[in-house]
Amino acid sequence: MADADSILIIGAGQSGAVAAAALRDLGHEGPITLIGREAHAPYERPPLSKAVLQAAEAHAQTAVHPGGFYEQRRIALLTGAEAVRLDPAGHLVHLADGRSLRYHRCLLATGGRARELPNLPRGTPGVHYIRTLDDAAALRAGLTPDARVAVIGGGFLGLEVASTARALGARVTVLESAPRLLERVLPPALSDWLAERVRHAGVTLRLDARMARCTRQPHPDESVRHQARFTIELQDAALIDADVVVVAIGLAPEVSLAAEAGLALDAANGGIVVDAQCRSSDPDVYAAGDCASQHRRHLNMALRLESWQNANEQARAAAAGMLSQPAPGEPYPWFWTDQFGCNVQMLGLPQPGLAYACRGTPQSGADAPKFIWLGHRDGIPVHAIAINAGGDLRQLRVLFEQGLRIDPLRYADETVALKPLVKACQQHAAATP
Ligand SMILES: Cc1cc2nc3c(=O)[nH]c(=O)nc-3n(C[C@H](O)[C@H](O)[C@H](O)COP(=O)(O)OP(=O)(O)OC[C@H]3O[C@@H](n4cnc5c(N)ncnc54)[C@H](O)[C@@H]3O)c2cc1C
Repeated sequence: MADADSILIIGAGQSGAVAAAALRDLGHEGPITLIGREAHAPYERPPLSKAVLQAAEAHAQTAVHPGGFYEQRRIALLTGAEAVRLDPAGHLVHLADGRSLRYHRCLLATGGRARELPNLPRGTPGVHYIRTLDDAAALRAGLTPDARVAVIGGGFLGLEVASTARALGARVTVLESAPRLLERVLPPALSDWLAERVRHAGVTLRLDARMARCTRQPHPDESVRHQARFTIELQDAALIDADVVVVAIGLAPEVSLAAEAGLALDAANGGIVVDAQCRSSDPDVYAAGDCASQHRRHLNMALRLESWQNANEQARAAAAGMLSQPAPGEPYPWFWTDQFGCNVQMLGLPQPGLAYACRGTPQSGADAPKFIWLGHRDGIPVHAIAINAGGDLRQLRVLFEQGLRIDPLRYADETVALKPLVKACQQHAAATP
């Protein structure tokens, strides 16, 4: 029988590892057990499609916490251990190896799985999905100079992989089924700009590209028979040959334990429904990170976010919730990606009917273009995308958080300094009854 205040965290990824640390920071003295299916101690996933894909040595820098951390903070880390059943009535979690662990509070931090294409299942030689450190290592081995790489899916992840593969000298084709890149998150002019930049880097980009079939022939060279050649046929009859296929078509939240345990799931996004403290429909089970769906005050809707910031913030909120302490304030959603020589940061989320103003000059061929598109409703910022302009985005953040108006024309005028402009917006709001 475990201690009355034992906390069990299922999922030793970003959220799970941050929650375990936060529990100790908040003063929890009881047992903490962190259960992870993977063989590795918790690591950060963002470098997997960037630095880790580019250079094997970068593995070493991906750990969420330094070596010795779990022992020092008395966190029992069980790697290679899979939870197979959650029994909320009995306060028990059953593991695949037959063990059962009792909990007082349980956190589901189970993340998600890369969505698969049925005709290109995981495990097919030459076909890659990228969610784990092992996935990244396997893909890196295939990214030889001149390898023909087809990336299916032109979302953030697909584009990052394309960017890294191109930097390694591969010949890359990106197949995106939508008529423009990142059409759900970028205004059309920015999608077009990005498409131009991708092409400028030497990547073949095919929009509106729907796969009709993909055939695989073993490599003619006996010594590399495990490799394959693929021919992808698009619905418009175009043929793309590839040695390596990377499928990056999104994520399915890992909610099987929650579903079998009868916890409420969000019908729209598939996530585990949680409140502001990350508590699920069972009072002793919490959820955080990619698997959780939470109502967002700023946007007045429930969302399941797949971002590093969200995994960290929800982990902290869940830790506070499990200890019956007040939840930290809700941060404005923020996301970043690095690709094609650009650090892209996004604050807020797009909404229908926003007008966009651009500060800076978008030049797709420039070495380091710098500009920010600001999406606003009657001057009140709701969404911003900064290209190599994270510092300026930080200046704007206060307007988002406090719902303050900015004059879009003055914002777009680069002769008007940004810092004083933001200050003037704050002063104006303070002086207006
Ligand atoms: C390649 C890649 C690049 C990314 N780049 C960016 C980026 O640039 N910017 C950004 O903001 N975000 C990025 N992200 C997203 C970010 O990394 C995720 O949002 C974050 O890792 C989510 O954390 P999590 O704890 O919810 O899930 P994860 O980190 O996925 O951890 C979940 C863990 O739970 C384990 N697990 C699941 N079920 C069980 C079970 N039953 N028993 C035991 N263990 C289980 C899984 O094996 C996994 O290790 C990227 C993600 C990937 C994959």
